[in-house]
Amino acid sequence: MSDKIKIRDLQVYANHGVYEEENKLGQKFLVSAELYTDFSKAGEDDDLNLSVDYGCVCKKITEFMESNCFKLIETAAQQLAEMLLLNFQLLSGVKIEIKKPWAPIGLPLDTASVELERNWHTAYIALGSNIGDKESYINTAIETLKNTKGCVVEKVSSMIVTKPYGNVKQDDFLNGVLCLKTYYSPDRLLELLNQIETKAGRKRETHWGPRTLDLDIIFYDNFVMDSERLHIPHIDMHNRLFVLEPLAEIAPYVRHPVLNKTVEQLLGELNG
Ligand code: ADP
Ligand code: MG
Repeated sequence: MSDKIKIRDLQVYANHGVYEEENKLGQKFLVSAELYTDFSKAGEDDDLNLSVDYGCVCKKITEFMESNCFKLIETAAQQLAEMLLLNFQLLSGVKIEIKKPWAPIGLPLDTASVELERNWHTAYIALGSNIGDKESYINTAIETLKNTKGCVVEKVSSMIVTKPYGNVKQDDFLNGVLCLKTYYSPDRLLELLNQIETKAGRKRETHWGPRTLDLDIIFYDNFVMDSERLHIPHIDMHNRLFVLEPLAEIAPYVRHPVLNKTVEQLLGELNG
């Protein structure tokens, strides 16, 4: 989908900058935005309610730029993008450029600027617990995600009781999966999940050992990535019934981007 609405060089007078004079005196900023939204229906019906009102977006941008004071235009751009994604339901993504034509560097430049793009993504998260009040750890995790700005819990599977995986002797697990809409990057999402695990008293001791709460990223759109900290899709998900069963309940036709098979197919193969 490549529909977009473009706003070019909206002038705003605001106080962002590293130097004190910039924060006090203010200066001119030029904000450009590309608003990604499917307006095929609006184009057919000639109805503003089916599209994003760019007048309204310009007002929000101006208010946001004037009422905040950041050191960096990087921060202003990122927070502005997130604010727009939260406020305009029909946006699937946004590109923002903020230019500083009067950047006080004592040299004759035209403009200095930053540009970034932020989008809504769909992630599937596996939840597991096998110590203490398992249900409550899992429910607290779901509630925390629901209350996190930039995260929308769209679907939650049933929770199933499963036998532990690996060779460590331990109590049964409670497992489930949820579908999350988020503008967090994979790394930021992993950090958030780790924080929620830590709050639940999770200690990282034995690999595959008992845990109050385990939160894994299974899919993130159709991203494929392998960094030191993060494998997406989850490296072992296709071998885990306790992931595939609940996942098949809420996302049977989602396709594994590397194995090129749907969740339903992977589950069928594992059940053999
Ligand atoms: P497991 O979930 O496999 O039982 P842990 O929860 O102890 O193991 O996670 C170990 C490490 O796995 C984490 O520190 C994290 O950096 C890494 N990891 C790699 N890929 C993922 C992923 N997709 N989701 C969550 N953690 C991941
Ligand atoms: Mg984990």
